Amino acid sequence: MTRETAYAELRSHLEAGPLIDTHDHSQSCGPRYTDAVQVLTGGYAAHDMMSAARGGEYDEMIDTTRPLEDRWPVVERLWRATKNTGYSRVTRLVLEEFYGVTEVTLDSLQSLTGRLPDYSDPVLFESVLEKALIEARIVNVWPQLTEIVDGSHELTPRARLTIGLPGFHSIKTRAEIDAITSAVGARVTSLDGYVEACREIFAAFARYGAVAFKDQSAYTRPLDYGPRDRAGAEDVFGRMIADPNASVDYPRGAKPLSDYLFHTFLEMAAELDLPVQIHTGHLAGNYGDIRGTNAAHLAPLLEMHRDVRFDLFHANWPYGGEFLFLGKNYPNVRLNFCWANVIDPAYCKALFRQALSAVPRIKIHAHGSDYSGFPDRAWAAARIARDNVACALAEAVAQGETDLDEARETATMWFYTNPREFFRLGSAQS
Ligand SMILES: [Zn+2]
Repeated sequence: MTRETAYAELRSHLEAGPLIDTHDHSQSCGPRYTDAVQVLTGGYAAHDMMSAARGGEYDEMIDTTRPLEDRWPVVERLWRATKNTGYSRVTRLVLEEFYGVTEVTLDSLQSLTGRLPDYSDPVLFESVLEKALIEARIVNVWPQLTEIVDGSHELTPRARLTIGLPGFHSIKTRAEIDAITSAVGARVTSLDGYVEACREIFAAFARYGAVAFKDQSAYTRPLDYGPRDRAGAEDVFGRMIADPNASVDYPRGAKPLSDYLFHTFLEMAAELDLPVQIHTGHLAGNYGDIRGTNAAHLAPLLEMHRDVRFDLFHANWPYGGEFLFLGKNYPNVRLNFCWANVIDPAYCKALFRQALSAVPRIKIHAHGSDYSGFPDRAWAAARIARDNVACALAEAVAQGETDLDEARETATMWFYTNPREFFRLGSAQS
């Protein structure tokens, strides 16, 4: 079978099938677009534009106090400078599908005025998720802890909650400790007391229906968690608790405490039998420090906590080789391509292809949109992810490494059955 025929077959198979969006940040429905340029800059596209901008160009471009025609020269320059990237491909798909716009011109952008959607309407928001056949989404949002304890927190359509870990182990002040523990009516004076309060909060999340833990500390500290140093952790914690005005230097000074708590929380994840999603690789925005974000730093943790089910994120972009190694080597590791599909579609096509030949196919989670709102972009990102997998598997079919039926089955596993089973979404209230 030719690559082209296999690709067409796999594309139509994937477009007709549901997917589990394994990672998103939609805390509320939105956005309500008010300016045509927001359709170009929404989601991650802004980061590439900021990367390409000179001086204050980006701010000039989004200054809605100025008419579009005044801003057009800089809009045009930044669009032309960035239109090649995966982020901009999301924008192009959105423009074409939702507005019928195939080329960004002043006229075509002006034609958007008056027909910009308001995604704060939950019905409209969910209708776009349905269009993408997103059956369920695993969301990392920041609810009030008291709303989790009393069960009153409301999620966006199709969302299943994760327990966001960073705030629980990146503590720097007594005020942060008190804010966390007060959710369960506790006032703690010791590290053990704090750990018990966290245990109670996580149990409340589990009762609420949380399906995983999620940690993105890579944005603020390196992933090189050290061995447990209880005395060091006690010392840091004790300094905070004894002095309400003290602030510990994070991550450096607070590292023994952060490391200790992270190990402790992983044990709790094993007890609750909830998987742990971890951000690895590329950092959103600009000027991130990638030196500490390679998933390879997690090896001692993955080795030690064999009863914890890890879901490593973002295809560890750009460290693909290490990513495949971790998935192949550790039985407790799944490889998640969320967000990476739009960071770098070509990387994902190649890595999906390589994963097929190197990693058990049950270990791949193909997609997560990773937006805050923007259902239109979630639709486009899902489309790009489906395309990436179809390309990779079509190549394997053409080379006789797998046959078409098996490739269809693999595609369904990667997008749907693997995450559905891993996160135990059987009772998904979609
Ligand atoms: Zn994310």
